[in-house]
Amino acid sequence: MTSERAAVGALDPDAVDRARTAAAEADRVVVKAGTNSLTDEDSRLDRVKLDKLVADVMDLRRRGKEVVLVSSGAVGAGIGRLGNGGSAAVDVDIERGSDVIDERQALSTVGQSLLMRHYTQSFDRYEQPVAQILVTGADLDAPERFDNFTSTVETLLEWGVVPVINENDAVATDELRIGDNDMLSASAALALDVDLLVTLTDVDGVYTGNPKRDSDATLIEAVGANYDAVRELVGDSTTSDFGGIQTKVEGARDAAESGMPAVIAGSATRDVLDRIAAGKPTGTLFVPTAGETNE
Ligand code: GLU
Repeated sequence: MTSERAAVGALDPDAVDRARTAAAEADRVVVKAGTNSLTDEDSRLDRVKLDKLVADVMDLRRRGKEVVLVSSGAVGAGIGRLGNGGSAAVDVDIERGSDVIDERQALSTVGQSLLMRHYTQSFDRYEQPVAQILVTGADLDAPERFDNFTSTVETLLEWGVVPVINENDAVATDELRIGDNDMLSASAALALDVDLLVTLTDVDGVYTGNPKRDSDATLIEAVGANYDAVRELVGDSTTSDFGGIQTKVEGARDAAESGMPAVIAGSATRDVLDRIAAGKPTGTLFVPTAGETNE
């Protein structure tokens, strides 16, 4: 463990400070929230969690920042609504979810509308208008659709609206996988030329092991030149209940490689986004590697 810590700890403190300041000063932010940050143990949308996320986003809005929210939770909320206990009509076990792609696609359409209803109501408490955008990877790869996507978001941001983006699961041709939105949020961050990507999850950042199983696992405060060591640790520690940290790390790394800071932090952390905007050490900070090599 000592050597692991040494391997992941060797970062220039000035570069970390600069990245933390850049993250705090970001004018335009993509915030990504995962299913576990929005649903309860019965896979039902958890209004307390969702309201907390919305309050955190509003902390950034109050600071004058533009925020784009990438939200998962459609399939999860669909399972909570129609699965066993929600409705006898659908034979989906809430514990296991559904592995059947057709079912997951259909469940997403039920959950997505619920998700937006709750977001609309929750943001309404602050008179904050929201918009729904559903995209697929193919949309962002096709130049004309990419342009339409970016110009729609630009217009919404100019109007002061918070766009809520999710993958268009009903028509996505690739398999619907956990982690898709980690990559989608990184692509959206690059496409929209944002200044910061924040990935919120149910652990407090990237650890040297699986924090849910290994009490010795310690939080990695910053990732930069030590990326390969971190990647290896995360690869080793990934299990299904820890699923998704790898794609979060990859998404954050993509952002950092293109010159923007990224943070992976706990959605349950008090005032999580406000802390980042105040420059307080929060979660795991990905130091822009482009910035590091230029200086
Ligand atoms: N788009 C999926 C959903 O809303 C989530 C994919 C992911 O978790 O990355 O349920």
